[in-house]
Amino acid sequence: MTGREPYAGRHRGQYVVQPQSWRPHPVPAEGVDVTVICVSGHPECGVRMPDAGGPAENDHEYAGDWMTYHLVTTGHALYSRTVHDTVQLRPRNTAA
Ligand SMILES: [Zn+2]
Repeated sequence: MTGREPYAGRHRGQYVVQPQSWRPHPVPAEGVDVTVICVSGHPECGVRMPDAGGPAENDHEYAGDWMTYHLVTTGHALYSRTVHDTVQLRPRNTAA
């Protein structure tokens, strides 16, 4: 595939895609970086999850632990979460 093949798929924004052809799969070896900010209250709390530090990563488990801690200490239950990870596109019919 050269990326220049004409597609007969549907348009999404500026891209033309073949629906249901490709699917993103997370690449665990590349790690994941989760950012969480508490958006509870009026005005919003705004507290940001601290970095795990050391060799630990800000992964989903760490983020879940921090959100639970913040909930039980403040009662705040609404969070904005951003996940940065690496994915590899694979044909949809290929086993994970
Ligand atoms: Zn909060």
